[in-house]
Amino acid sequence: MDFRIGQGYDVHALAEGLPMVLGGVRIPSQTGFVAHSDGDVAIHALCDALLGALALGDIGHLFPDTVERWKGVDSTELLAAVLALPAYRGWAVVNADITIALQAPKLAPHIGAMRSRLAEVMGISPDRVSVKATTTERLGFVGRREGCEVWAIVLIERK
Ligand code: MG
Repeated sequence: MDFRIGQGYDVHALAEGLPMVLGGVRIPSQTGFVAHSDGDVAIHALCDALLGALALGDIGHLFPDTVERWKGVDSTELLAAVLALPAYRGWAVVNADITIALQAPKLAPHIGAMRSRLAEVMGISPDRVSVKATTTERLGFVGRREGCEVWAIVLIERK
């Protein structure tokens, strides 16, 4: 058996009047993410975990924010593109575990939709995708509602 593990981390700043997309799901919110892409910080952390598992670098390297092609891009496209890399041929995602730190809005009503959407894009069953959310008890930049922080871990297995 050949397994690899990867971890990813990402942060995006929040600003008034921007769309909030997390885990491939549009979240009703007064604030959204400042970003070159759609700002889906959960998917960005997940992509970095997948890239990390095979030591393929990071998404900043793969999809530079200086490239027009990636402007406003739906991050599910980036996730699909990572899994479509030649290096990913022959590997299957065993499971993913994602933790989102966000002060507001509450993400609990959207967790199921995020798990389904991420599982769909990765071609695995939703019971292999965990999405957890926490506030930081009003501490730090997350607590001051200045941004969102996400950690992701994935396990992959050679098919
Ligand atoms: Mg990012």
